[in-house]
Amino acid sequence: MKSDIAYVKQKWIPVYIIIIIAGLIFLVNFILLYLETENESYLNLSFITALFTAYISYSFWKLYSIKVVEYEFIKIRKCEQCGKVSTLKAEKNDFIFKEDGACPSCGGKLLIVGIFRREKNKKIKDRSLLLRKIIK
Ligand SMILES: [Zn+2]
Repeated sequence: MKSDIAYVKQKWIPVYIIIIIAGLIFLVNFILLYLETENESYLNLSFITALFTAYISYSFWKLYSIKVVEYEFIKIRKCEQCGKVSTLKAEKNDFIFKEDGACPSCGGKLLIVGIFRREKNKKIKDRSLLLRKIIK
């Protein structure tokens, strides 16, 4: 699932690039025309084009530097009988204290005791440490 900002970036970055390239072509064109004809209105036009292109480049850079963070939801399941804890990717209708299947080692009821979100693709050094931190 893609976040909205990722979609906006994907949609607008090519548009910005085309506008910037067009602006640069106009700028070079006006400067060349000024050098050839020495008509000052071309110099004014080149200034305006340069300002416009600079502003578009700045907006482009702002959009480009937005970091897209994707999250995933993880549920913590605890067995009522043996107390074994495991994590799994959360599904759409999961909630705390929902029964969530049977324990693979003793067959007891598994309850969801926690749901949290984390950044996708981010490595966690010690999984058990994370779990202990959440449960305590
Ligand atoms: Zn169990």
